[in-house]
Amino acid sequence: MKLAVIGTGYVGLVTGTCLAEAGHDVVCVDIDESKVARLKKGDIPIYEPGLGDLVKKNFKAGNLRFTTSLAEIGEPAAIFFALPTPPNGDGEADLSFVLKAAQDVAQVLKGYTVLINKSTVPVGTAQKVAGLVSKHTKVGFDVISNPEFLREGFAVNDFMKPDRIVVGTGSAKAAKVMQEVYKPYTSAGAPLLIMDEASAEMTKYTANSFIATKISFMNEIANLCELVGADVEQVKRGIAPDPRIGSKYINAGIGYGGSCFPKDVSALERIAHQRDYDFKILKAVMLVNTHQKQVLVGRIVAKYGENLAGKTFAVWGLAFKPDTDDIREAPAIEIIRELVGRGAKIQAYDPEAADNTRKVLDDTITYSNAAQDALKDAHALIVVTEWKEFAAADLAKLKAELKDKTVYDGRNMFDPDDMKRAGLKYISIGRAAI
Ligand code: NAD
Repeated sequence: MKLAVIGTGYVGLVTGTCLAEAGHDVVCVDIDESKVARLKKGDIPIYEPGLGDLVKKNFKAGNLRFTTSLAEIGEPAAIFFALPTPPNGDGEADLSFVLKAAQDVAQVLKGYTVLINKSTVPVGTAQKVAGLVSKHTKVGFDVISNPEFLREGFAVNDFMKPDRIVVGTGSAKAAKVMQEVYKPYTSAGAPLLIMDEASAEMTKYTANSFIATKISFMNEIANLCELVGADVEQVKRGIAPDPRIGSKYINAGIGYGGSCFPKDVSALERIAHQRDYDFKILKAVMLVNTHQKQVLVGRIVAKYGENLAGKTFAVWGLAFKPDTDDIREAPAIEIIRELVGRGAKIQAYDPEAADNTRKVLDDTITYSNAAQDALKDAHALIVVTEWKEFAAADLAKLKAELKDKTVYDGRNMFDPDDMKRAGLKYISIGRAAI
């Protein structure tokens, strides 16, 4: 099938590439000229495991193309919108990118086309987009909702082997097109769930808000564990085997970040607010997360005082989670800003996210090329993102390098007994400090 994807970011590039890999003929459009130029050279603008090889393979085969011009999409059966929906000042989803692209696309439609909202959008957006498009085209179309559930760091695998595909449409014609689009995945066993537009739009916000709720809940349990002398890692072991709870997203830490959970929880709370519904749990989830992002800063200030001039901290991990270069809403950025604001010097290392961080923090901190280099002359180490390579750290070297022999671990990556044996002070989350 001929398909187009508008927006070639984390979701759009994965969507376009995986659909090409599945046998479709895909054109990806982005307004960012430098991004498109890089993609045409086989230079992948984001870090996502496995994506680069697939882009190059399908680009070379000719069934994946990149352009900045909507005129080049031809006559696709379906067009995916994978555009940003960032929070506006009130925390609602800003639909301006989606609406602008929809209006532009309407003007190049040549025949019946399914327009697919893959962006995370509030309930009613499919209708809103349809109203706008109808003003700018005379050809037939349907606007449907097809939210994306991929996780950065696992995006290719999640798209290729989805646990479900949600399609929101009341149009039998559009549903048939979507069944055809996703046939390579449904024939491999992925369930395709067709529902109304509003329920599909609501499904995405429900999924992300539910996961964020689990995370905030476990973070509160961690904080309480510290007060009662319990170990949150043991509590986790104790609850995870219960099939009603499960082992996913119950890690205690320093809060969720990224481009999705914070904005989607906030947007859902706003959707409720606009209908005069007081969504109490979501307000608490956000409050807990805001607090949790500051937990390590509080501990550092408790030890060193408000004035951190003359103190140097090594920071391991800048991305909002491992296996991505995405730093949107990353706890590391907030933590670093708080520490730098108090006069601290920061030496940071991240395997993939330094370039993106530099765009935000400039040279207010120094960037190391290896985890070990960041430790030089540092008083303490702060572990912010749980990249696998950090778990293999040589503890004797940590002790030798760190002036105060202290590790603040925001992700509970280490065994407190190992740290103790290594002669390190170890402050983690939801466990007694040693
Ligand atoms: P992104 O910022 O990485 O990418 C968006 C792309 O759209 C950018 O490359 C930008 O240049 C481009 N763009 C903006 N306006 C355009 C226009 N008029 N025409 C063509 N291109 C245009 O965003 P993302 O992380 O891919 O997220 C996209 C949507 O998917 C959001 O609604 C997000 O909530 C949702 N989502 C994201 C994830 C994720 O893990 N990132 C997962 C599921 C859903």
